[in-house]
Amino acid sequence: MSERLVTMLSQKEIAARVQELGAQIAQEYQDRPVVLVVVLKGSFIFASDLCRAIDKTNLRVDFLGVRSYGEGTETSGVVQITQDLSKPIAGEDVIIVEDIVDTGLTIAHLVDLFRTRQPRSVKVCSLLHKPARARVDVKVDYLGFTIEDKFVVGYGLDFAERYRNLPYIGVIERT
Ligand code: 5GP
Repeated sequence: MSERLVTMLSQKEIAARVQELGAQIAQEYQDRPVVLVVVLKGSFIFASDLCRAIDKTNLRVDFLGVRSYGEGTETSGVVQITQDLSKPIAGEDVIIVEDIVDTGLTIAHLVDLFRTRQPRSVKVCSLLHKPARARVDVKVDYLGFTIEDKFVVGYGLDFAERYRNLPYIGVIERT
């Protein structure tokens, strides 16, 4: 069996959308300090481009390691924190940066968890959203692209830890 990658979103399309999201975030937060919480590992490339597209100096970046238990390519919604934030977020304006909202279970869990830490606000920024598979209602405040129900890789997203380094978002086709 051979594998072929089909481009779903090109490097250029992603770059243009990330610039727009960055400008929108900078505009909405203005002088207020912001904490970007990068959910590892999938969002590391998106977050690194996004933070450079946000033209403000009072921005802090922190990292959250999560593991969700599930069968194959499906999450169970049980999220384990493998690496917690380095600082408290009480009183802060937080934006959680995700690669993809699929069933929505992971992000719903993270928003609930963060709310217990008394931040000033919690918003969600996700590069991708697959509404066809939503199992819980999640508000994505800043969204890159809505995509159809296909398993995507690249630009940080993996399949069995491979393909994260692709500069575009693609779909694996097996022939
Ligand atoms: P959710 O809890 O919303 O179902 O899933 C969120 C996580 O599942 C994402 O952060 C990502 O790690 C993984 N995931 C969901 N859909 C895809 C996909 O199409 N491709 C890849 N590589 N990971 C996905």
